[in-house]
Amino acid sequence: MACGFEALLKGFAVFCEEHYGDRKSLMPRLVEKGQDPDYFIISCIDSRSNPGILFQAEPGTFFGHKAMGAIVRPYQKGTALAAALQFAINYNKVSKIILLGHTGCGAIRALAENLDDPEISSFISVAREGLEQAKKCCADDSKHDDLLRHAEEQIVLLSTENLKTYPSVQKALAEGRLEIASWLFNMEAGAIYSYAPENGKFIALPLPRL
Ligand SMILES: [Zn+2]
Repeated sequence: MACGFEALLKGFAVFCEEHYGDRKSLMPRLVEKGQDPDYFIISCIDSRSNPGILFQAEPGTFFGHKAMGAIVRPYQKGTALAAALQFAINYNKVSKIILLGHTGCGAIRALAENLDDPEISSFISVAREGLEQAKKCCADDSKHDDLLRHAEEQIVLLSTENLKTYPSVQKALAEGRLEIASWLFNMEAGAIYSYAPENGKFIALPLPRL
């Protein structure tokens, strides 16, 4: 069948082989017992920063939400993210949210370079404060790429703060049953940087030995 989707269907065949072997396989068990993910991951739409692939996550591991630049707007009732968080935190008892930005992000570049496309800029402009913050940290003669790197970090932090305006998040934080991690996937280095509030900077996470 030459349908143009072979690359995806080939992957799905591998997935089925791995997870539908018999009744004890992972997918039949998840279908029977339901899901119980611990994590909620907010990531960019970028095809290179896909958390399912990055973390080699099995089905049932995390809820996912994607947005350009992994940008989180301040709370507004009825948005896709507000509903998803409410569902995951209040009904599925998710206990960890990861805000996953990444280096080389096209959305952050578009913001920094004032992309003239109202459809895109009206969404990403909510992160402008993060860009302005990055400009303060960078010297006037800094390279453009250095500014982008700072902006990527600052926008992860801004989105983390915006996340805390969602009622489901506020309530779970107040009750001590939710943790939020602010991460940046460094695509060039193959590393995850995590924001350490005590140091005020992003630090590479040590990886477990395999
Ligand atoms: Zn991106």
